[in-house]
Amino acid sequence: MRTIVLREQEQGEKRVALLPDAIKRLTAQKIEVAVESGAGIHSGASDREYESVGATVSEDRSQLLASADILVAVNRPPASDLLQLRPGAVVIGFLRPLDEPRELEPVITRSLTAFAMELVPRTTRAQSMDALSSMATIAGYKAVLLGAAQLPRIFPMLTTAAGTVPPARVLVLGAGVAGLQAIATARRLGAVVEGYDIRAAAGEQVRSLGAKFLEVDLGGIQTEDAGGYARELTEEAMQRGRTLIAEHAKSSDLIISTAQVPGKRAPLLITEEAVAGMREGSVVVDLAGASGGNCALTQPGQTVERNGVTIMAPLNLPGSVPIHSSQLYSRNISSLLGLLVDKGELKIDRNDEIVKGACVVFEGTDVHPRVAAALGLAPAAR
Ligand code: NAD
Repeated sequence: MRTIVLREQEQGEKRVALLPDAIKRLTAQKIEVAVESGAGIHSGASDREYESVGATVSEDRSQLLASADILVAVNRPPASDLLQLRPGAVVIGFLRPLDEPRELEPVITRSLTAFAMELVPRTTRAQSMDALSSMATIAGYKAVLLGAAQLPRIFPMLTTAAGTVPPARVLVLGAGVAGLQAIATARRLGAVVEGYDIRAAAGEQVRSLGAKFLEVDLGGIQTEDAGGYARELTEEAMQRGRTLIAEHAKSSDLIISTAQVPGKRAPLLITEEAVAGMREGSVVVDLAGASGGNCALTQPGQTVERNGVTIMAPLNLPGSVPIHSSQLYSRNISSLLGLLVDKGELKIDRNDEIVKGACVVFEGTDVHPRVAAALGLAPAAR
């Protein structure tokens, strides 16, 4: 049973799906791993290090694809790769099934099985496979550093012979995994931090990190779904949130926004008027750029300036910290592999909650409803 790891094809992507350390454990489980030469180079893993843990290294991408039982990836591999896999082969990675369902057509036409890391259930049992949390942790941390480096002021309060410098004020919107890490990082740097979220459970977590939780009266509506994710709110409820945010934006030096609703456009939280009310030199780092952004002025992937306020919307912050992102991701991947492989053989238990949750296509059929709808196929009974 052969698992392959390829060089990522997306421009600027520096992460790799498996690092040598994780491969050591897989080899012990009789999982053979083959790696495309140079795949780990930006994540601190040379070909020689892969070989030293028992992986084979090859320059021949097509040959690797043709021989694979499992392809593990960070981003969804291009169609040209998917179409070279053998029917029945398994693809695992961030496949974007909810955002770009049509792109999974080659998985179906080639009769492949696909697992989307973003659909791994957020349960306690699946924690070691929760790549969304791993990457969000890195993104939340890095967003604060980006913002801090852009600010014309420092974070901590300093009392010096030359006078006292007040601490920076940071507002974090969305207190999920990325937001909480942003709060913790900003606090460690000495900022005064406020956090906002529509899930009541987030309040306690924000406060436990030493930040102030901004509460808004949403009229007692249900803000959370059964999976613990935020729901899309009514326009009226959204407006209440925006008014509160605009008020607090006036005194914030840095806003880190991380609010997302799975499978939907990111909620618009920072209006143009809110940006206009911010002080010159202040900064917004919008982590929701890939799904449309939390700020009305966000240009995904770009940094723009309006009235002296800088709005940054980096699209792949985990990719800018490839060593640690790959380390966490490769642990997530190897844990999932441990669930799919038994004694060196592929054994997909489709009754397992994690397997069922993450599987978007099984041998070209049983297609996830969202993907099926995008491609005009009959949805699978799930
Ligand atoms: P996410 O990336 O989907 O969203 C980020 C945050 O934005 C969330 O906290 C969400 O509530 C918030 N948000 C959405 N709409 C908003 C709005 N209009 N205004 C303000 N905030 C808004 O979330 P995530 O970080 O992936 O985490 C989602 C949930 O999963 C959380 O409840 C988290 O605690 C939970 N979780 C559980 C586990 C586990 O039990 N193993 C692991 C990770 C996450």
